[in-house]
Amino acid sequence: MPRPIQATIHTESLRHNLARARASAPDARVWAVVKANAYGHGIGHVFEAFRGADGFALLDLAEAERVRALGWRGPILLLEGVFEARDLELCSRLNLWHVVHCEEQIDMLAVHKTHQPHRVFLKMNSGMNRLGFKPQGFRAAWTRLNALPQVDEISLMTHFSDADGPGGVAAQMAVFAAVTQDLPGERSLSNSAATLRYSGDSISSGQGRLPVSADWVRPGIALYGSAPDFPAHDIAHWNLHPAMTLSSRIIGTQNLVAGDGVGYGSGFQASGPMRIGVVACGYADGYPRVAPTGTPVLVEGVRTHTVGRVSMDMITVDLAPLQRAGVEAGFGSEVTLWGRSSQGTLLPIDDVAHVAGTVGYELMCALAPRVPVVMAA
Ligand SMILES: *Cc1c(COP(=O)(O)O)cnc(C)c1O
Repeated sequence: MPRPIQATIHTESLRHNLARARASAPDARVWAVVKANAYGHGIGHVFEAFRGADGFALLDLAEAERVRALGWRGPILLLEGVFEARDLELCSRLNLWHVVHCEEQIDMLAVHKTHQPHRVFLKMNSGMNRLGFKPQGFRAAWTRLNALPQVDEISLMTHFSDADGPGGVAAQMAVFAAVTQDLPGERSLSNSAATLRYSGDSISSGQGRLPVSADWVRPGIALYGSAPDFPAHDIAHWNLHPAMTLSSRIIGTQNLVAGDGVGYGSGFQASGPMRIGVVACGYADGYPRVAPTGTPVLVEGVRTHTVGRVSMDMITVDLAPLQRAGVEAGFGSEVTLWGRSSQGTLLPIDDVAHVAGTVGYELMCALAPRVPVVMAA
């Protein structure tokens, strides 16, 4: 028998979450963001559920090829554009739309030979200061692109730095709207946080109003059932469903007495008699090593917590809450590290990430290759 750990991808949850994103931006088209191998879920595992999206957005050319190979004929957007000139050949061949965020990418386009002009998304750095043209250089970049025979339609985009927090999107919206007000083309602004939090909001821009959801939204994390603004809001608030369950089993138990240590460095010491379970899951599976004693976990659907350090292949959990609940637990008991237990109890990935000092994004993306992935309804 293989080690009992596995990840389960819930197709119905992915569908539900996509519908939620759509409902938050009913007038926009939806890019399903599937970068980083669909946030660790596997592009092949999410593809069917996301067929209802209007396009797939990702970073990696190999991932774009994968989506085409799965039979997708609709839009695919390269969110960082091309990295070198020959990437443009693949864009021409696979009809990939690509972001243009710097002069070097325009230089490459200017010498690219193609029969089919490209659809590009010109990116503005409206305040995040990662990728994109500064507002004062944006129109010059647009004019330069617009003069190229290699370029067909130019869409306009930016990315919010503070959509998930108190900073919000107003300042970046104002910059973007002011610079682009009389430029033609579709607009794309919103990640998950902006899509959910600013649903229905707009600002005045030139002739009309620019909705935060604009023409295309770009939700990622919300599609996978993690709240982009946890702990301010959780997935129950946003009506999102966990798309990944990481589960395993107890492979041993120990009865401790006061003063007994647990794990490397004796990172936990029992203050009295207690029973612990040893779970087949460690940092080599993608479970965060920094998760401290007290990180939530479900055993047979009952919420308990880790004790002691996370090691490569094992964690240890307190079985006292099960004894108190009158639930039998021992060798072979089901353990849910995050997601949904067979009893139906939920442990949102955000709860685990928060205690471990990180975000749901990192945990799902870190799922290790050694963990078998299965699909469920
Ligand atoms: C990753 C990414 C997104 C999706 O962000 P979420 O916070 O996961 O919704 C949207 N736009 C761009 C440019 C991205 O890189």
